[in-house]
Amino acid sequence: MSAFGKDIRSLVFDLDGTLYTCRELGEQLEEAAICLVAESRGLSMEQGRSVLQDARRLLAEDPAELPPLSRTCFELGLDLRSFIRALEEKVHPERFLQPDPELAALLRFLQERYDLYVYTNNGFFLAGRILALLGVDDCFRHVYSLEFAWRPKPDAEALQLLLADIGGLPESFLFIGDRYHVDLREPVKLGIPVLPVNATEELLKLPSLLGVTS
Ligand SMILES: [Mg+2]
Repeated sequence: MSAFGKDIRSLVFDLDGTLYTCRELGEQLEEAAICLVAESRGLSMEQGRSVLQDARRLLAEDPAELPPLSRTCFELGLDLRSFIRALEEKVHPERFLQPDPELAALLRFLQERYDLYVYTNNGFFLAGRILALLGVDDCFRHVYSLEFAWRPKPDAEALQLLLADIGGLPESFLFIGDRYHVDLREPVKLGIPVLPVNATEELLKLPSLLGVTS
């Protein structure tokens, strides 16, 4: 028995907080964004930090869920190309991440039955490095990064482009993510099935939810 319809063909995973969890990497991402805000506005790091934090609080739809750094920088009028460059220079996932054999086994199992995708607000290069470090970079048909539409999640227009690129009816997709407003709310509006995950271990229930246990 499947918790979802039988028509699912494409699984679309968020990356950060969904395929892996790492507080230190999250902190490096935030520091890189603060540095970008500070440099582009001629502010000190401390001032940059408050500008970014205030903007995130202001943009938050739910106080428990801050908007993504990319979205916040976008709303602050910063160039997303500089955002991606800042991440590439200042974020070092190799210091924190290692191969995750359990995740790799799960994705390889699912890969035989579905088309797997990543949809992330990270840049293509950093996303690729993270997936390679986790040992799962060969599991996905495509990685939709910030460069795809230059519109950070949550974004209805970028989502439409992604759906058109993959192709298929709404019920042929399943979106999986750790943040409802960022990853799942826009797909839900289109009638796409979603799975919220609060921790990477929760991904392990995917085969039974999809009704494809071996
Ligand atoms: Mg996430």
